Amino acid sequence: MKAAVLYEPGKPLVVEDIKIAPPKAGEVRVKVAANGCCHSDLHVMTGDMRMPLPIVLGHEGAGIVTEVGPGVASVKEGDHVVLSFSPVCGYCYYCTEGNPHLCETRPKKMGTLLDGTTRLAKNGTEIFHFAFTASFAEETVVPESCAIKIREDMPLDRACFVGCGTMTGVGAALNTAKVQPGTTVAVIGCGGVGLNVIQGAAVAGARQIIAIDLLPKKLDLAKTFGATHFVNPSQDDAFKAVMELTGGRGVDYAFEVISTAKTIELAFKMTARRGTCTIVGVSPESARITLNPNIFTMMEKRLIGSFYGSTRPRIDMPRLVDMYMEKKIKIDELVSRTCTLDDVNEAYDLLKQGEVARSVVKFF
Ligand SMILES: [Zn+2]
Ligand SMILES: [Zn+2]
Repeated sequence: MKAAVLYEPGKPLVVEDIKIAPPKAGEVRVKVAANGCCHSDLHVMTGDMRMPLPIVLGHEGAGIVTEVGPGVASVKEGDHVVLSFSPVCGYCYYCTEGNPHLCETRPKKMGTLLDGTTRLAKNGTEIFHFAFTASFAEETVVPESCAIKIREDMPLDRACFVGCGTMTGVGAALNTAKVQPGTTVAVIGCGGVGLNVIQGAAVAGARQIIAIDLLPKKLDLAKTFGATHFVNPSQDDAFKAVMELTGGRGVDYAFEVISTAKTIELAFKMTARRGTCTIVGVSPESARITLNPNIFTMMEKRLIGSFYGSTRPRIDMPRLVDMYMEKKIKIDELVSRTCTLDDVNEAYDLLKQGEVARSVVKFF
């Protein structure tokens, strides 16, 4: 089958034929229909995020189940699935208390399936799976808990975004920060995930949603996703603008979706007393932030992080699919272009240039 393989950071992905082995116990083979071009793969391509190589990237996929290994009960051949990149065991402390995205049994070893081996190879050399999904490929084998069954009338080239960007952004607002009706929100960074934080806050009933980004085109899109006010830091001081818009109080919820120390500190600064500042993006390993601890005490501000929108995949992903089908959340507007796997490098070149929305690789 055809897959996009990363052999060396800084080099383009090689689209080539590789071998895929059948699913073992507790695994599911999926014919990939579509995969979104998310930023996190780019971190591996540039070497900012270290992974074993060679590796098949792709973690924003959806497709159709073609085969299940022994013991698989939650999906069967023909089921439509979104691929989750966070396997869950269902019985550890965090799975049981309702936070399966923090599952304790996730293996420490990167790039393999749960048993520590891979199903991908070329000429006898093993090829690793990125994020359990490896969905820049015509087919993939994933742990059962990463194949989330969805309704069949959902277009798969839209469903794939529920596997990362939509879940991460909408989930950060609804599940992690739990934005309340009538409140004020600021979102720093209006890329694919930031736009989803904005629509999550809008769904939650926030009264004022301030979008902050350097690119006017992104601020235009932010309006489509429900932002009510717009700040471009190349023209205005973002902190001052947010304070003016909120009567000098700051926002009840700030979200940082860029992941630089400077913007995290800015997000925390514009958070109101007793407000919550949520870090959504992933920073380079070496990043450090500097904050005055007295602000936590004197103002009761909270600083929290959000991983994968605090997803409970089997609840939240089918729910987001329903919300899309009922026109309560948007996905189409996030997709700026559709391409084939052969064009995957070009899609990432565009993303690097600050392309507004995402490309989706469509397999069928
Ligand atoms: Zn992603
Ligand atoms: Zn668990």
